[in-house]
Amino acid sequence: MLTVKAYAAPSATEPLVPTTIERRDVGAKDVLIEIRYAGICHSDIHTVRGEWGDIAYPQVVGHEIVGVVTEVGSEVTGHKVGDRVGVGCMVNSCRVCENCLAGEENYCLEGNTGTYTAVDRDGTITQGGYSTHIVVDEDFVLRVPESIPYEAAAPLLCAGITTYSPLAHWKAGPGKRVAVVGMGGLGHMAVKFAHAMGAEVTVLSQSLSKKDDGLRLGADHYYATSDPSTFAELKNEFDIIINTVSAELDINAYLRLLRLNGTLVNVGAPPEALGIKVFTLFGNRRTFAGSSIGGIRETQEMLDFCAEHGIAAEVEVIDADYINEAYERVLTSDVRYRFVIDIVSMR
Ligand code: NAP
Ligand code: ZN
Ligand code: ZN
Repeated sequence: MLTVKAYAAPSATEPLVPTTIERRDVGAKDVLIEIRYAGICHSDIHTVRGEWGDIAYPQVVGHEIVGVVTEVGSEVTGHKVGDRVGVGCMVNSCRVCENCLAGEENYCLEGNTGTYTAVDRDGTITQGGYSTHIVVDEDFVLRVPESIPYEAAAPLLCAGITTYSPLAHWKAGPGKRVAVVGMGGLGHMAVKFAHAMGAEVTVLSQSLSKKDDGLRLGADHYYATSDPSTFAELKNEFDIIINTVSAELDINAYLRLLRLNGTLVNVGAPPEALGIKVFTLFGNRRTFAGSSIGGIRETQEMLDFCAEHGIAAEVEVIDADYINEAYERVLTSDVRYRFVIDIVSMR
């Protein structure tokens, strides 16, 4: 066992505090990673505050992890000491169900093993990336291309794959009109990907305060959803809408913005039910869909796509003792566009 430093939530209502946790010994198929940066995903906040259900405390979250391999097990073939690697939202899956066999481990029929709050194969609860080290089965470790700086790569492991996967699946590309609802961690990556894929991109944000950034990141149009005329003007407009909003919103108003055969993909994960009206779906033969992160093969494809297209996250690097303040800023949409913890500050 390796005792390592970490930041943990002691309960649903208390701030995160410095602590130590145990990492398992490096098994034959395991990789020990010295973590360099960990992104702060809104899911971390939903989780530690118990918004998605009860969890066991203390809990270390963080599933946007990049670092360097410092030790490998005797049977590891895909990674070696010194490699730049990443770990996203899952660290294992059953590997034998039809979804795992199709390379969609994120949709494992047994439920994938999340990087945090999941029951690991040794019966312990997985602890995430707000920590100096992590031990992960090599099959769930990604290669981070040399050209992407560590800190800008971290958010790709969740915000990146979560937006890349649906855009690829629903074929964002030339001739397609894509709207991105919410320009936060996921949203800003969706803008970059949809633009790089060749689609015409529109941001639907609560206000116009981030308009210049949106256009710089690749959006062609930018609208404020606080202005009711936006919904009238954009009715029947989009082929694909990616909703990244972390809170409840009037989903029917957004569904009406889909043109014939259009799809609204919900990746935002508020705990509340959404209240879709079937008559809104009847119009224009609309589809309402969900999408959850991406498989390991697709995550590697996304990282390689980022290297090829010069894409990475826009980040604000923070020290670990700023995590609680960063959470408050995420909750008020005051993030440009991902907080990333410099793990050296934790040592
Ligand atoms: P984030 O950085 O906080 O971004 C969310 C954005 O939504 C905000 O920047 C804001 O954009 C908008 N927003 C927030 N509150 C709103 C409200 N009350 N009404 C309208 N718009 C609002 O969060 P994130 O890390 O991108 O995560 C977004 C959601 O995706 C979270 O619920 C998270 O748990 C979920 N998630 C899902 C997956 C998956 O696999 N499906 C993976 C990762 C995260 P504007 O300021 O531009 O309006
Ligand atoms: Zn996440
Ligand atoms: Zn499976």
